[in-house]
Amino acid sequence: MLKVHSRCDLSCDHCYIYQHADQTWRGRPTRMPPATVQAAARRIAEHAREHGLPVVHVVLHGGEPLLLGAAGLREVLAELRSTITPWAQLDLRMQTNGVLLDEELCRLFVEYDVRVGVSFDGDRAANDRHRVFAHGGSSHDHVRRALALLRRPEHRASYAGILCTVDVRNDPDRVYEALLAENPPRVDLLLPHATWDHPPERPGPDPTPYADWLGRVHRRWVDDGRPVSIRMFEALRPGGGGTEAFGLAPADVLVIEADGSWEQVDSLKTAYHGAADTGFDVFDHSVDEAARHPGVAVRQDGVDGLCLTCRACPVVDRCGGGLYAHRWRTGSGFDNPSVYCADLLRLIDTVDAHPPPTPPTTGEWSVTSPATSPVDELLDDLATGHGSAATLGLLAATQLSITRALLAACRDRSGATAAWDLLVHLDQAAPEAVRAVLAHPFVRPGLVHRLDSSAPPGLGAAVDPLPALAIAAAVRASVPAALHVPVRADAITLPTLGSLVLPGLGASAEVTVRPGGFQVRGGSVEQTVLLDPLTPPATGWFPTRDVSVPGGRLLLEDGDPYRDCYGQPVESRLEVPAARALGRTLADAWRVVHRDVPAHAAALDGGLRAVVPLAPDPARPLRSATARHAFGAVAVTPHPDPETMAVLLVHEWQHAKLGAALDLYDLVEPGQGTRIRVPWRPDPRPPEGVLQGVYAHLAVTQVWQSRAAGDQPDASAHAAHFLGWTRDGVDALLASRSLTAAGERFVAQLRHALEETRVGSR
Ligand code: SF4
Ligand code: SF4
Repeated sequence: MLKVHSRCDLSCDHCYIYQHADQTWRGRPTRMPPATVQAAARRIAEHAREHGLPVVHVVLHGGEPLLLGAAGLREVLAELRSTITPWAQLDLRMQTNGVLLDEELCRLFVEYDVRVGVSFDGDRAANDRHRVFAHGGSSHDHVRRALALLRRPEHRASYAGILCTVDVRNDPDRVYEALLAENPPRVDLLLPHATWDHPPERPGPDPTPYADWLGRVHRRWVDDGRPVSIRMFEALRPGGGGTEAFGLAPADVLVIEADGSWEQVDSLKTAYHGAADTGFDVFDHSVDEAARHPGVAVRQDGVDGLCLTCRACPVVDRCGGGLYAHRWRTGSGFDNPSVYCADLLRLIDTVDAHPPPTPPTTGEWSVTSPATSPVDELLDDLATGHGSAATLGLLAATQLSITRALLAACRDRSGATAAWDLLVHLDQAAPEAVRAVLAHPFVRPGLVHRLDSSAPPGLGAAVDPLPALAIAAAVRASVPAALHVPVRADAITLPTLGSLVLPGLGASAEVTVRPGGFQVRGGSVEQTVLLDPLTPPATGWFPTRDVSVPGGRLLLEDGDPYRDCYGQPVESRLEVPAARALGRTLADAWRVVHRDVPAHAAALDGGLRAVVPLAPDPARPLRSATARHAFGAVAVTPHPDPETMAVLLVHEWQHAKLGAALDLYDLVEPGQGTRIRVPWRPDPRPPEGVLQGVYAHLAVTQVWQSRAAGDQPDASAHAAHFLGWTRDGVDALLASRSLTAAGERFVAQLRHALEETRVGSR
């Protein structure tokens, strides 16, 4: 902890630096001189190098560090980064009262990757009970303005959280609500500094008012689905992990004062004058020398460094005797339990009464990868709201690799088969043909169904999909082959090619690949199918149909049995006029997307390969859907209006892209059971549903804004409507604390894209 400025612009009456026993600040320089900064940085780098530390945490602290100003802080940050980062990763943080925070400082913190914690005690009454200027004026509005700056998408990466000191005279509900309203990534609740010589305020006869106050906040937090990380509650649960205030982990904080003195944790200043002194400084003493000071060393001893009462305590591993400073009593020194001992015991009972939900131990097939990677180009590109053709290519490639993994899992279940061997051979001899078949959107649903032991038998879980895949690839590659292919409902479907539907095929048919087509023998049937487009289709053969669109060829998939994966009825095979009409609408709609939102059109060109007609429903004539396992396809009701169809395509393609990204990244914390209210549904939705909703609505907003710019009637109203939905959904997601770090980053970027959309439409 680096005390870069020893004075403060606030005059909080609970401040341990100026208002408690220690008064050493009076003799310190106001600012940490550059030579001291350099010496401190060199000592830290030296320590990291000698101990091979992978990461070092440095917190800029005060007094008030922002009193250094942007130029002074830049010098400090540059010195720390240039001296320490050659030896260790540098995690830079700052604790501030926020009063002086402005846009320039926020930009500086983003530039130097500094995470900023802000001290804020809650609602106006609570905050201004202590956190005031020297003239007694309120700091509440100043701090809220600072928090609003940090919440902005371009600064949010630098928003570390809020540090709130408890006062039991404040209303716990109002404090809790005020903290949540600032949408912090994390909340630290601190007990006010006190010792056995100066016990904490306990108004009234209640012996444990702090446990009661914190217990009330804990109940709200649990009832709300733990919408934000509250470090105290997480630290106190079994195995919750130590902090400076709780647990038995060795103390790992040293303070460098503005004059270069090494000090122990500065909360000790509450105990007595000079309590934090070590007698060492950065000019003459290393980190190791400072860490050998008895006051630091005793805090490396775990339970052995505690008093007898704490050692015998059943919750010592979680409480750890509380904050070191809170144990002080003249005469026995720090060899006491915490002055908050009774409160801590009771609070731990409260925490135990509400354990966090257990994450599920099983899940559906997924591929995990660096889920919390702070920087990822693919996610960043999708967070623009659309994603480039290159990103779509990458998503398609990863989807293909998932399909291949599922294929191998099916092989493992069935044992080595002739179909597998043929696929392996073709993968060498004609890889393009295998790739084309495996990239068909309904191959993966078929494989998932085959592997799903709970699948209803009616859909044919027993049908092995591998023979049909191998034959389809062999036909595409014109490689002679023969396999027995399972028949389902009198039909054999060869993905990407079509279906042969002939009563009497039996349960399995022998399919032989011949030049220009294939021959089928099964049951009482023998049929030869030639794929020459100039030859009329053989009886019972229904070839796949496609339509030319700006992105290439788009399949009208109305025959593959695994297209029935949308949770709503799909249309059976379309008659020729209906298929032609739908094809025309889709081609026109695609051109409309190019006209309205070229960036979305590029993403559509890059990946949408098939459209499934949904069965008409007079009660809901306009429907569309996406299935997580069927990347590359969307399902729509065959609406005749290209303008409407364009919106459906863009909307659904957003779901498909995000679904593919969710196969790679954990954007939502698992197992929290959180439900979020959104304006587009009457029922509260799980976070992933909300994420999908905002991603789709963002695109629809952009379509309507483009149309509004072209003076299309009612377009402005539609744009405003979807803009409001998207913004509310994004805000609700960010407030829910249900996202992973990668998810928070993604949604914050979506908000930025939304703001740009809004600005661009003015
Ligand atoms: S803002 Fe912090 S350092 Fe400044 S007076 Fe308040 S508690 Fe003390
Ligand atoms: S302070 Fe109290 S609750 Fe904490 S470990 Fe010591 S005896 Fe146990």
